[in-house]
Amino acid sequence: MADLSLKHIYKVYDGEVKAVNDFCMDIKDKEFIVFVGPSGCGKSTTLRMIAGLEEISAGELRIDGEVVNDLEPKDRNIAMVFQNYALYPHMTVYENMAFALKTAKVPKDIIKQKVTEAAEILGITQYLERKPKALSGGQRQRVALGRAIVRNPKVFLLDEPLSNLDAKLRAAMRAEISRLHEKLQTTFIYVTHDQTEAMTMGTRIVVMKDGFVQQIDTPRNLFRNPINMFVASFIGTPQICFFDGVIYKEGREISYVLDCGIRINVDFYIADKIPEKYSDGKHRVAVGIRPDDVRIDDGKYKTDEWEITEAPVVMVESLGGENLVYTNLYGKNSPGEDGTLVVKTGADCEIHKGDIVKIAINKRNIYVFDRETEMNIISGIPKENIVDCEIVKGKMQLGNNSFNLPKAIYGIKDGKVKVRIPSDGVILGEGSGKGKIARVEIIDDKVLYRLEYGNYDKKDALFPLFVYEDGNQCFDEGDNVNFDIDFSKISIAERNITPLNTVNSVKCSIVKVREKNRKYTFYFDIAGELAEIEHVIREKLFAARGIEIFDTEPELIFDAFAVAAEKSDNPSRYAFLAEITEILDYGRFCFGKADLGESSVVFPYSGNVGDTVSLKISAEGVTVKDRKQDIIIV
Ligand code: ADP
Repeated sequence: MADLSLKHIYKVYDGEVKAVNDFCMDIKDKEFIVFVGPSGCGKSTTLRMIAGLEEISAGELRIDGEVVNDLEPKDRNIAMVFQNYALYPHMTVYENMAFALKTAKVPKDIIKQKVTEAAEILGITQYLERKPKALSGGQRQRVALGRAIVRNPKVFLLDEPLSNLDAKLRAAMRAEISRLHEKLQTTFIYVTHDQTEAMTMGTRIVVMKDGFVQQIDTPRNLFRNPINMFVASFIGTPQICFFDGVIYKEGREISYVLDCGIRINVDFYIADKIPEKYSDGKHRVAVGIRPDDVRIDDGKYKTDEWEITEAPVVMVESLGGENLVYTNLYGKNSPGEDGTLVVKTGADCEIHKGDIVKIAINKRNIYVFDRETEMNIISGIPKENIVDCEIVKGKMQLGNNSFNLPKAIYGIKDGKVKVRIPSDGVILGEGSGKGKIARVEIIDDKVLYRLEYGNYDKKDALFPLFVYEDGNQCFDEGDNVNFDIDFSKISIAERNITPLNTVNSVKCSIVKVREKNRKYTFYFDIAGELAEIEHVIREKLFAARGIEIFDTEPELIFDAFAVAAEKSDNPSRYAFLAEITEILDYGRFCFGKADLGESSVVFPYSGNVGDTVSLKISAEGVTVKDRKQDIIIV
């Protein structure tokens, strides 16, 4: 059981080869992380740095909060399983599995118990007395896993453990390793160059290229929201097909115009996500279509969702259970040329080379990349909505919805304005706004809704709102919902309205005070205002810095919602006292402002200016940064 944190990790070999650049990642306990990428991209090097087999050139590696850069491999409580098994040929399976425990002087009966247990988990009990040479590849790999299991490591590192096995065994062992992960409830980090392995096993996948992390995401999100063309083509089989072209806007219609002349009207759900600068008909883009999103048209595909076109078949590949039909959108007749689009069909599909087929392309799942930067231009979750509104006498008119402006921004000048509303700044299910859920997308751990509102005849729905929520999906496509705007998050450039900054940051120091019972109590000291440090934070501070903690220049960073403010002259334990200098009433949320040292902080509070309040920052919500070294300690 372990959390890992890799912060700005670099590996430079022999002072010149930069094998790993600025690797940053937080790995939660029990995750199954897969590092994937072409050979030489830095996967093994990163894994070996975590194991301690390779020195870290720069950056910080933590296991359960403790910096382990300089810790010996054996002291990291990590087990590594290699591709070549690395079993001792002269020892039996039992001896191989017991070896590490024996060297650690674990009592014999405990060794026996652990080896027996591990052998049972892996189904190799009957081979315990055999030597490795009398085992098959798969069995040897199980022994290698067994050797790791007996040590009860906090983290399992696996470096291409299946690459020496044949395809059938590999598939079986994949499932077995996933089961093992479930059973052991431990953090796994697994290296492979095989994207199928990555997609089937990882809870999150790190895609690497040339020493750089390209994207860290869930399998589904890598597939549906690849950050660039590299990730799009590396993930998914058969590979995504690319077609060069431009995006063209004509009135309300937006279409992809491929160089071959094919024009695909963009589904309006997607059109709203395309940044305006790309729809000028000049920016070169690469349009990506996944074979999974193409069908042979049998007449049942509707043109509002599917683009129907004709193309010659240049090759048919049979995979047993299914066929891959290679067509060419440019009308070319040989495989491997520009314009190839692969279609998956059933094995009994009667299509042959030379046929002209009608194909249907799902317009909702077309990918578009900037041809020059190769970046995906349609982000999964749009960060903000830019909508035309009108301010009229203290109200904001959005389509035919009217919202009362809250006190904090009441009194701004009337007129037409462009309002930026972030996608987490719309609250669904309450408020005076009325709209309809037009589309629901699950993206990673978030639910993205496309909310249409207003008077459809007047085309208000042209400016829909993208709204996301963490966690559970609460609404379905077609639902009528009420909605509200979180005015603390919006900006109106014409009226100098900016979002409320809810990230607080204060400089402090750490002091200790000896109590009557001779024990020490530790405090955060902000310009003389003291708050006792909670136990969990104190432990982490000392684990990270030891007694040097008193010489650091800490900065406390915390969100407004991590503060519990109470009107009181008498601070509760762990709380700072401060005086309210301003009240910001945003309707849904009301915030108080107060000075702590040189900084002003905000927090939810609905009292009055001049109140004395006790401010308690939650231990889970606070980050402690060492300003001297610019490193996060807690
Ligand atoms: P991967 O595991 O993704 O195949 P590696 O982490 O093994 O890649 O290697 C990353 C890069 O570092 C490659 O360019 C490789 O040649 C280089 N490299 C690996 N080990 C060493 C070494 N001991 N000395 C110098 N260069 C190395």
